[in-house]
Amino acid sequence: MKVEVDEVKCGTIGFCVKICPEIFRFHPGSKKAYAMMTEVPSHLQAKCSEAARRCPNNAIIIWY
Ligand code: SF4
Repeated sequence: MKVEVDEVKCGTIGFCVKICPEIFRFHPGSKKAYAMMTEVPSHLQAKCSEAARRCPNNAIIIWY
């Protein structure tokens, strides 16, 4: 499972950073989130999927 944040769509809501801080962070100085890793380890996949579901801007892209 792989993940990426579409920073054009990201709107600083921050659910992803709260739900899965192991993967999602805000860029310093800009409140756009990014994924610190592309390949999601198996023990984080459920949290990462939940973050994607809860992102109100559909900015979290998951693919396999
Ligand atoms: S939940 Fe979505 S809109 Fe909010 S910071 Fe994360 S990626 Fe951006």
